Amino acid sequence: MIVLNSSMVERFTPQELKSVIGHECGHIHNNHGIYNILASLLIDGVGASIPGVREVLALASLPLRIAIQTWSRAAEVTCDRAGALCCGEVESIISTQSKLLSGGLLSGHQVNVDALLEQYDSLRTSPVRITEMLSTHPAGVRRILAAKEFINSQVFYDWHPELKAPDMHLYPKEELDARCARYISVTKNEGRGK
Ligand SMILES: [Zn+2]
Repeated sequence: MIVLNSSMVERFTPQELKSVIGHECGHIHNNHGIYNILASLLIDGVGASIPGVREVLALASLPLRIAIQTWSRAAEVTCDRAGALCCGEVESIISTQSKLLSGGLLSGHQVNVDALLEQYDSLRTSPVRITEMLSTHPAGVRRILAAKEFINSQVFYDWHPELKAPDMHLYPKEELDARCARYISVTKNEGRGK
């Protein structure tokens, strides 16, 4: 079941809503809910009923927690791709993420996307990125950059051949994933792709 609250329906365009619904359908299609439940059982269930031992086990499970959250952030990028396939254009992906970052307060044309993307340059060179290691979702700017890579990939145009122009240079899937890895991994310190 996918729930859209009224403020989202009022403030998002039909294309943006398609990207949101497509994203959630991506989670359903890939059974991410089941993996997320298993992950939370592994993380939060470990030693939950053993007072005193709980803290030690929580510390021991830290590498597992980091690995699962890394997977979770990659899963979000996968589902952003599903959202992009459903709405069929990158502008709505960017404006959706921009609106989510501002809590829906700013509309698409009020966001300076170039300034927003510059946040990545600050993020990747700052120790702040280490705090992202336990985040379930990538920072919004990382998601926008990964979506921009996807829109230049062969995978996107395999689903949308009607949008393909003859002179386009498109990345194969392997190159797409390599380019997105820099945005998904918070430990890497690579600049934005050209
Ligand atoms: Zn998601």
